[in-house]
Amino acid sequence: MTITANERSLQKETIATHLGRPDASVGLVNWPVHRGSTVVFDKVGDLENSGERKFEKGTLHYGRFGTPDVFAFEEVISALEGAYGTLCVPSGLAACVLPLVAFLKPGDHILVTDAIYGPTRTSLKQFIARQDVELEFYDPCIGDGIAELIKHNTKVIYLESPGSYTFEVQDVPAIVGCARSRGVITVCDNTWATPMFFRPLEVGVDVVVQAATKYISGHSDVMLGLVSCQEPYYRMVREAANWLGYHAAPDSVFLATRGIRTLAARMERHYKTGLALATWLEQQPQVRRVIYPALPSHPNHTIWKRDFEGASGLFSFVLDASRERAIKFVESLSLFGIGLSWGGYESLAIVSDPSKARTVTRWEEDGVLIRMHAGLENERDLIADLTKALALI
Ligand SMILES: *Cc1c(COP(=O)(O)O)cnc(C)c1O
Repeated sequence: MTITANERSLQKETIATHLGRPDASVGLVNWPVHRGSTVVFDKVGDLENSGERKFEKGTLHYGRFGTPDVFAFEEVISALEGAYGTLCVPSGLAACVLPLVAFLKPGDHILVTDAIYGPTRTSLKQFIARQDVELEFYDPCIGDGIAELIKHNTKVIYLESPGSYTFEVQDVPAIVGCARSRGVITVCDNTWATPMFFRPLEVGVDVVVQAATKYISGHSDVMLGLVSCQEPYYRMVREAANWLGYHAAPDSVFLATRGIRTLAARMERHYKTGLALATWLEQQPQVRRVIYPALPSHPNHTIWKRDFEGASGLFSFVLDASRERAIKFVESLSLFGIGLSWGGYESLAIVSDPSKARTVTRWEEDGVLIRMHAGLENERDLIADLTKALALI
């Protein structure tokens, strides 16, 4: 027997393993990959009918609008996020920008968290603002103070919690409360937590975007983005995806579907190892400050504890060292790769400077920010590697 999306009463681990599987006629546990452009129909009328319904969920019309294996994956994500519908798009960044293309018109105003993922900031400044959209950044920790920034032409509030490098946890329910009463649409980037640890739609957000490139795929071998919407916004987002000609590669969706089946187990381990590394680093004399929402020392720990069910493996810390020494530290690590992205099975470490990517808030810390991703290695090996590298500085 197959489980349907109506069975929302199931727990998230069960949804992730049972939903979106093929029915008995396929006979396999997993969907085969559907590669296709043309869809053929028996009758002219059938083709015309599918054309009229092409922006509705699960309509097989033409390859660009998705195939049954893609619809099945979208159904799993929708059930996990509590969304009416989800759309697969070519990358996480494509997912971040798509709702803005769908909702904003010339003359509109958008409020954007100042701790936003860098490439999304660039798209906003260099592409969205060019459409005569008024762009205004706000302090990620503003909470219901956002009410004072909402204007008559504010159309969208963009959230990302926690921030990509500096991990401010936003008071999403407070911001959403202000947005709802004034008819403003909220869009939230949920890449860090995944639906396993936070479901923004449950606290009233309208649209969730995320990079399935990260934890959902989980193996650093896929580029894929997801946009999950409440019902009023689903069609608008699908139409905008069509304007842009977006299409998600079926092999990427296959790998992301494989990823979602093990997401719950992986997230638990990333959380456990992330917390172990963060706790250990906090005790080292060379470390000024560890910025991880799951640590009681984090400034927004209470909000995290109220809204999240866990923390992922991505966090930062401030090393009490020159940039030169910080680079030496990172380059001396042997189990942590130096590279962008995260959410795969492997650990990573990069040197970063968030001060350049700020508009209304400041990043002023003595020392150098190191961003780490705790992978699925044994935590004792990771700590031994960190110990060795710290000793060198
Ligand atoms: C990586 C990332 C993205 C973009 O995802 P890509 O698939 O790399 O385009 C968007 N938002 C956040 C928070 C990310 O970390």
